[in-house]
Amino acid sequence: MKKIIIGVFAHPDDEAFGVSPTLIKEIREGAEAHLITLTAGEEGANPDNHAELGTVRLHEWQRSCELMGITRCHHLGYTDGTLSNTDLLSIADRVGQLTENILATTDSPIEFMSFDMNGISGHIDHIVASRATALVFYRLKQLLPERITRLRLRCLPIEQVPQHTIDWLYMDAGRTSDEITEVVDAREYHDTIIEVIRSHHSQRADGETHIARYGNDIGINHFIVKQ
Ligand SMILES: [Zn+2]
Repeated sequence: MKKIIIGVFAHPDDEAFGVSPTLIKEIREGAEAHLITLTAGEEGANPDNHAELGTVRLHEWQRSCELMGITRCHHLGYTDGTLSNTDLLSIADRVGQLTENILATTDSPIEFMSFDMNGISGHIDHIVASRATALVFYRLKQLLPERITRLRLRCLPIEQVPQHTIDWLYMDAGRTSDEITEVVDAREYHDTIIEVIRSHHSQRADGETHIARYGNDIGINHFIVKQ
């Protein structure tokens, strides 16, 4: 039976820079994926001085979703850069409702995907997104242990981030091999991954840095898996 993946991320481009290799591979192999962005990313880089950056970024995100083959995309409309405890509870309720709607229409098992609970870069929105996802995951798993299978948190390995950085926010060092429970190799989808990353044209400075830094290994994702 096909599985359904629900990905929950704070910003349009988190999916592309973070987990597009895994999503592309899973979808090509038969999974169905739904993506949720909590904000429109309206506080992101704006090299073209768009008056409505959030609208532009949501269009870029739609394109990214199309390229990956995402079944449905949901933008929840929270304010970029401001996610809080109050938002976390509201996000968990809304993601829980969306998940229940999906559960009602299928017998497929459902798994969740988000970022490492350290937020990877340390961005508060990422931390709220992953912790809200963990809350939904464990709430639903308690009720429906047969249907809710696992939570995959995308992390960086210590080889890529040997120590913490303070270039912007406080960012943790990468995870050690005993913390990483899954490695997905989607290097065969390299060209699609690059296209997905480049669909976020307004964030091209970050995108090109990412592409240059990882080279062919851009197709490898590391996860901490909670069950
Ligand atoms: Zn982000």
